[in-house]
Amino acid sequence: MDIKRNILLNPGPSTTTDTVKMAQVVPDICPREKEFASLMKGLRADLLKIVHADPERYTSVLFCGSGTLNLDVCLNSLLPAGKKILVVNNGAYSTRAVEICEHYGLPHIDLKFPIDERPDLALVEKTLQADPDIYQVYTTHNETGTGILNPIRELGALAHKYGAIFTVDTTSTLAMRPIDVQKDNIDFCMASAQKGIMGMTGLSFIIGNRAEIERSASYPTRSYYCNLFLQYDYFEKTGEMHFTPPVQTIYAAIQALKEYFAEGEEAKWARHTRVMNAIHKGLEELGFREFIRREWQTGLVAAALYPDDPHWNFEKVHDYCYERGFTIYPGKVSGGGMFRLCALGAIDEEDIVAFFKVFREALSACGVTVPVIYKKN
Ligand SMILES: *Cc1c(COP(=O)(O)O)cnc(C)c1O
Repeated sequence: MDIKRNILLNPGPSTTTDTVKMAQVVPDICPREKEFASLMKGLRADLLKIVHADPERYTSVLFCGSGTLNLDVCLNSLLPAGKKILVVNNGAYSTRAVEICEHYGLPHIDLKFPIDERPDLALVEKTLQADPDIYQVYTTHNETGTGILNPIRELGALAHKYGAIFTVDTTSTLAMRPIDVQKDNIDFCMASAQKGIMGMTGLSFIIGNRAEIERSASYPTRSYYCNLFLQYDYFEKTGEMHFTPPVQTIYAAIQALKEYFAEGEEAKWARHTRVMNAIHKGLEELGFREFIRREWQTGLVAAALYPDDPHWNFEKVHDYCYERGFTIYPGKVSGGGMFRLCALGAIDEEDIVAFFKVFREALSACGVTVPVIYKKN
């Protein structure tokens, strides 16, 4: 087997190992067979281990779809009649959650903070105090558009203090930056297979409080395909996904988890940190500025500001790198020009060193002055 190895520095899907790619090549199987159900049972149990969830209190529910499906499911399924969702919003992904609330007509408060700042906990508390109808507090752990880290443990504690459940979009941290659902006060978290676990696209999962899922059976149902209780209940009764699962992606996820546990939580986080340090160093050497101050960063995404150089052209730089096996990604903030380099995936420091050699050539090919220039100090 000889598959070209691309270094993906975009925020997922991530670079995968060849063993994970090949795990998809298996004999055909009907996913309604007991053999396949037992594979999913093991997978569901292993997902709990990643976030140190007690299997008595937590369960994991699998869905076929991209990561946004998880946001949709948690928001539309976990809201009793007459109650409200509080979205602590400082970025594009929490804004997506607000859009989902709007789409379903769910009562919600969009508590907005600047995208380059951490949420003001005192204001969050005041909001909770003022509105006893808030049933679910929702936020994003790592706002992948900028790479800012939100204080989930503190937000979760506040939610619980006021009797609300706490839901966190951990799509861009789970299986990378260590999470402990109990210590971090998380009732629901989520991710999809193509990010932290370094699997393939098409499988998403929610890890959450079993008692709350069971309670939600009596909440209004707002979606048929994307209802948490219905999917959970089907899994509990039959061991299967309600509808056809992404069969090959599940085989890949099982292999990816084997590799995850073999590498180990701490060693993996240390590797991502090594990769991110190499990214910071490479950007610094070229004079690039980052959007989020270092101490607020998650350590998985670097958002670098476009330089004020008339020769700078993201598309051209991107294409030069892409042709040489490195994928970089534009930013995700309205108005501001920036690009992102991410530390996800099966990559290590030497890949970043190799990338910056190519990136420097790309700048030179475009005629961009190095170190890069910014008008404002
Ligand atoms: C990637 C990501 C998602 C999911 O995006 P999809 O394109 O639907 O897979 C959701 N939230 C965060 C924070 C993400 O980084």
